[in-house]
Amino acid sequence: MRTALVTGASGQDGQHLCRLLVSKGYRVFGAVRPRADGISESRSGVVPGVVPLEVDITHHDAVIAAVEQSAPDEVYNLAAQSSVIGGETNRLATAEINGLGAIRVLEAVRDRFPKARFCQASSSRIFGGEPGTRTEQSSIFPASSYGAAKAWAHGEVVRARQVGGVHASNAILFNHESPFRPPHYVTRKISAAAARIALGDSTPVVLGNLDAIRDWGWAPDYVEAMWRMVQHPIGDDYVIATGIAHTVADFCDVAFAHVGLHWRDHVTTDVTLVRSDEPAIIGDASHARKQLGWSPTRTFTEVVRAMVDADLVALSPAHEPI
Ligand code: NAP
Repeated sequence: MRTALVTGASGQDGQHLCRLLVSKGYRVFGAVRPRADGISESRSGVVPGVVPLEVDITHHDAVIAAVEQSAPDEVYNLAAQSSVIGGETNRLATAEINGLGAIRVLEAVRDRFPKARFCQASSSRIFGGEPGTRTEQSSIFPASSYGAAKAWAHGEVVRARQVGGVHASNAILFNHESPFRPPHYVTRKISAAAARIALGDSTPVVLGNLDAIRDWGWAPDYVEAMWRMVQHPIGDDYVIATGIAHTVADFCDVAFAHVGLHWRDHVTTDVTLVRSDEPAIIGDASHARKQLGWSPTRTFTEVVRAMVDADLVALSPAHEPI
């Protein structure tokens, strides 16, 4: 039986990855951030069959203890302050968690279990600049504090592989969604609003830039990609993306149409929600397709509909998915 340590186990990807690993017969340790009140809210998100460990990745001793206790064959560092907006309002914490925290986990693994394989949840936000397509060779030029911290960790993973001989990979993840997305993210805000309005609450949803472009995929596909890169004989960096651009308005269109509504009747905008750090980029996942045999399993429309269906069920348990 192989053993995996997953940080950020209670997050969207952490839950999908833990499910995947449990289904594959792994012994899984899921690291979740402890809560000040002692009742770990995030532990409720730990998947059944996973051994929960309370670890704040900004705490050196806790990280070492988790690595020693789990004695992992594979380590997936998903823990992050994952909001780009949150990164701007709290730059120091973002640097601590997304930069130094990731490096701390990597160093603990390298020091205690150097044969363990390591996967870092890197991000498309390490790229910035002009609109267009990004590959593993594209310039790293982050336009946000979140992206800058991710870029720092990304570089250390490359060094651990090239100089330290560690089997270490960066999953350069473009946006990916699922019903586990927290409610304050724009996609979940839209899917929840479509469900809520379809069920009779007519309050409009307020959004920022409807023309903002994203390359959106299905979260379970992206954790499958992370698992595949860890199984590959050689660690490497992989862009994980669909390669297809959609706007926030497209997301609204599909979500509201799925419940028989027109989005323009229910969406309003607020200029204060418009952001300046939104590079209009898509990812080219050719390297992952070729080396890992990976490709997305769900279309954009299927992703949006699945999220609306899940929100309909959450708001109205009697509802049957459309
Ligand atoms: P998520 O749902 O926000 O999950 C992140 C997890 O990290 C949460 O469970 C959070 O715990 C935990 N965490 C935060 N700070 C921590 C700390 N100091 N110590 C320990 N745990 C901490 O994010 P996600 O969507 O699953 O994303 C997974 C990873 O992929 C992240 O690294 C993210 O930056 C990266 N990524 C995601 C996307 C995407 O579209 N989803 C795109 C590119 C990259 P709490 O519950 O306590 O906050």
